[in-house]
Amino acid sequence: MSASDQVDVADAAALLAAASDVTLLAHVNPDADALGSALALGLALQRRGATVRVSFGYPAEIPASLRSLDSAGLFVPATDVPPRSDLLVALDTGSVDRLGPLGDRVAAAPVSLVVDHHVSNTRYGSHNLVDDRAEATAVIVARLLDALAVEIDEPIARCLYAGVATDTVSFRFAKPETHRLAARLLEAGVDGAALIRGLMDSHPFAWLGMLAAVLGAARLEPDAAQGLGFVHAIVRQTDSAGVRSEEVESVIDVVRSTAEAEVAAVLKETPTGDWTVSLRAVGRLDVRSVAVRFGGGGHRLAAGFTGRGTADEVIAGIRDALATAPAAT
Ligand code: 5GP
Ligand code: MN
Repeated sequence: MSASDQVDVADAAALLAAASDVTLLAHVNPDADALGSALALGLALQRRGATVRVSFGYPAEIPASLRSLDSAGLFVPATDVPPRSDLLVALDTGSVDRLGPLGDRVAAAPVSLVVDHHVSNTRYGSHNLVDDRAEATAVIVARLLDALAVEIDEPIARCLYAGVATDTVSFRFAKPETHRLAARLLEAGVDGAALIRGLMDSHPFAWLGMLAAVLGAARLEPDAAQGLGFVHAIVRQTDSAGVRSEEVESVIDVVRSTAEAEVAAVLKETPTGDWTVSLRAVGRLDVRSVAVRFGGGGHRLAAGFTGRGTADEVIAGIRDALATAPAAT
């Protein structure tokens, strides 16, 4: 797709306004920004009279911590997504492979709209609304809702707030205009404290034991990452048995707080023995470049990829890539 397929908010809103049957897709293993963006836009289009459905490639259900976002029951499992719909919208998904088994729906749709904030976005839609300066895809969706003149009521606001809060790490990386958006969402009735606690601050007791085992075996390499420090931890299948994906995904947020390390990595073992890898940087090194080297992607300071081989081999690969990683600026 060429750069001419880039559309502005008004063009994208016109496409959305004209569609009567819309499939909205988030990336596989969706986070609050991907799913919240899809549900917020889905709710708005449903109010305008369209038939809508929201899905993602896997898992087959909405993760427990995100279930409260789907107040209208818009979610359908990937197996129930029709082969073709008038308009296909992919949200927070930088490349078509991140749609997993639903990637084929993009080419099958007569019109496809990609709404995203990843700098690496490959512009795989027939129309692409990509703004890599937006801190969250939900910020772009809020602009679309304003262009559509849809009232942002509490159920829609809840979805947007969840996306913005997650991608800005509880507003830490939010620009002033994004704080203004958050204020609007709170004024629409969102209970921010309760929503954030449910999304990222509440775990079953078993989480404590899992964290103790995983963090107890974490390793710090002060000389790695160009002398800026590299910390890593491994979540094996035996550690994650009995806890939800939310507990596993939370580990990186603890590991990344290590003061001696610019870069943090968490390797999460999959049932097939591969590794889902989360990378974070504080602000000096670009970890997206590391993820891209192994077929992944993301943002400069938060990226990921799927690694193969032993955990030691994957860590060695990251260590090598960090030695020549570009600066984050
Ligand atoms: P997380 O570590 O929270 O799963 O992901 C951090 C960032 O990297 C997110 O923006 C996410 O979309 C991106 N990311 C994670 N895994 C992959 C991957 O396998 N491929 C690509 N392209 N991006 C990924
Ligand atoms: Mn996002």
